[in-house]
Amino acid sequence: MRQTIEKIALKNQRAADTICLIAVSKTQPVALLETAALQGQRDFAENYIKEALPKIEALKKYPLIWHFIGSIQSNKAKDIAQHFDWVHSVDREKIAKLLNDHRPTTMPPLNVCIEINVGNEATKSGVAPSEAAMLAEKISHLPRLKLRGLMALPPPSNDLNTQKNYFKQVFSVFETLRRLGYHLDTLSMGTSQDYPAAIAEGATHVRIGTALFGSRS
Ligand SMILES: *Cc1c(COP(=O)(O)O)cnc(C)c1O
Repeated sequence: MRQTIEKIALKNQRAADTICLIAVSKTQPVALLETAALQGQRDFAENYIKEALPKIEALKKYPLIWHFIGSIQSNKAKDIAQHFDWVHSVDREKIAKLLNDHRPTTMPPLNVCIEINVGNEATKSGVAPSEAAMLAEKISHLPRLKLRGLMALPPPSNDLNTQKNYFKQVFSVFETLRRLGYHLDTLSMGTSQDYPAAIAEGATHVRIGTALFGSRS
């Protein structure tokens, strides 16, 4: 996967080390994560807090970076703030405040991304592109959070240009926020289905599950 990402990066005149491979390990057993960790994989992402906590505990002897990418219920914010390095799926002020309030002072500020609902899908979380600046402003006042960028999970499509168009929209929100003065360095976009398009459109973090670990049961 790293070699594939490297090839795609070169094809798009990008340096491969500007693209972080996040291994999405939801539903996969700890032993498989450990195999990846032993091969040098550092970044892992989980969607469900109850599933993630025992995995984080079991693998704590490895220097891993944990990313939360699932939807966030208020009563889960505390565990997320205490056990993760990143949260990609912040989409409302209330959750941002809870994450901020529960982030231990012994830990560095929690890295967060605003999730953008780029396909305007009723079933998906994320803010509309037009609402991102307002949420960024709210987050910027929360000292225990560090706003790093944007995350998106566009509607599935098999068409490269359709995929690219969604990612272009996310990139344009990213540029707008940067023009407003936010120091963002993270575009978390691209899954097993569409990471080549995401890399072509500027992704800095791709979130790959099935293409690394096989299908989920
Ligand atoms: C599950 C998931 C992924 C990984 O999807 P794959 O198709 O398995 O690569 C990426 N991002 C989010 C938000 C997910 O929930």
